[in-house]
Amino acid sequence: MAGNDKFRDECGVVAIYAHPEAETLAYLGLHALQHRGQESAGIVTSDGMALHIHKAMGLVADIFTEKRLARLRGTLAIGHTRYSTTGDSALLNAQPIMVQSNKGTIALAHNGNLTNAQEIRSRMEAQGSIFQTSSDTEVIVHLIAQSREHTLPDAFADALRRVEGAFSLVMLSRDRVFATRDPRGFRPLAMARIPAQNGSTHDTIVFASETCAFDLIGAQYEREVKPGELIIVGPEGVSSRNFAPAQAQSSCIFEHVYFSRPDSRIFGRPVQESREQLGRELAREAPADADLVVPVPDSGVTAAMGYAAESGIPLRFGLIRNHYVGRTFIEPQQSVRDFGVKLKLNPVRSLLQGKRIVLIDDSIVRGTTSRKIVRMVRNAGAKEVHMRISCPPTISPCFYGVDTPRKAELIAANNTIEEIRQYTGADSLAYLSLDGLKKACHDGEKTTYCTACYTGQYPTNLVDVEEILPAAVEKP
Ligand code: SF4
Repeated sequence: MAGNDKFRDECGVVAIYAHPEAETLAYLGLHALQHRGQESAGIVTSDGMALHIHKAMGLVADIFTEKRLARLRGTLAIGHTRYSTTGDSALLNAQPIMVQSNKGTIALAHNGNLTNAQEIRSRMEAQGSIFQTSSDTEVIVHLIAQSREHTLPDAFADALRRVEGAFSLVMLSRDRVFATRDPRGFRPLAMARIPAQNGSTHDTIVFASETCAFDLIGAQYEREVKPGELIIVGPEGVSSRNFAPAQAQSSCIFEHVYFSRPDSRIFGRPVQESREQLGRELAREAPADADLVVPVPDSGVTAAMGYAAESGIPLRFGLIRNHYVGRTFIEPQQSVRDFGVKLKLNPVRSLLQGKRIVLIDDSIVRGTTSRKIVRMVRNAGAKEVHMRISCPPTISPCFYGVDTPRKAELIAANNTIEEIRQYTGADSLAYLSLDGLKKACHDGEKTTYCTACYTGQYPTNLVDVEEILPAAVEKP
């Protein structure tokens, strides 16, 4: 990713049932999911008697020192890494959220965004409920507490039936781990197993947003948590129920385009395969007469491999990314043009000089960064710059757990492709078609996808649009 002109990642969740080092596995799992959110992270563990929590702002590796982890000893754990989508980014809204309720102490970690959270919250506040955070996840906690059901699994299922929108959730009680996905399956959540070791009779059950977390802790991928399914892991073993009738599946196609790591399997399909296929489809739909295929790193790399393989044009890393750019940096007093992008990317002049370049990226959101990158490649001596984008124009914001600008700020919502080409300064510009995107991600086979940010056709009733939009817009 170069610059900030991207849809922002959402959140990552992980859960561990029955392991002597549950806190460390949760920590490692979160570390593998760090790309899904860098603002805050938290872990809650259970030692069978009580729940222990630590959460803070910052990166997983900075928050959880050995000393801190030692204080979180337990055999059950859940964890969360956050990029805020609703609620501001203060520590108060960091997750997991842990509360004492009439169903016992519980902790909850959420990836997604509830589209009716504000409506439920207003109703509950009118009835006297007091909310501690501005996070939509707290609504679920209150619904669990207020449920007339007597057991925690029944109360959780009852709460889940009352919320709408996107949620992949893990929940921890003293002796159980719960994992669930909304009935449309917007966000991913998968299950894995570590076979029993060292005389233990129990396998360890693991849940995570992406399967790359399983690889790091030696867990074997088992299956996806199904849309509308609630899995409960406890002393009696693993049980599953459907908390709501199935609805038309609408899993987020942008997970395959950009969010998830290429080494993950998402919605049952390897991301690497989808992303490379996106590049191949793009090469078929929008060929270019050029000397080199150059990816915008890191987001454009896999699609560029596909484009190069399909077109026969050699792939070269003509832009080098500095991976160590922190959040704050000191600018020179005399302003340097495109300084922010230059900090992150530098062109390889010897490669680009005198060449016709196909520049591959995965999306254009506002267009500001693309314009700077095209200028950078041209200034490095490229003769022509042909920009190719491995998904259709993004014309609508997301309401399902992804931080996006308002429609007014999306360049493709307000300009023709020719106008965008002129703005970026590219010699030619082409996007992948919606059909090409769906084909590359095998839409309709194992999974049907949400494509609302490309079509403006949303799969749910958006009751909270006015509430959700300003929260998304306030982000720097
Ligand atoms: S609107 Fe776009 S980013 Fe949001 S869930 Fe749908 S496909 Fe994903």
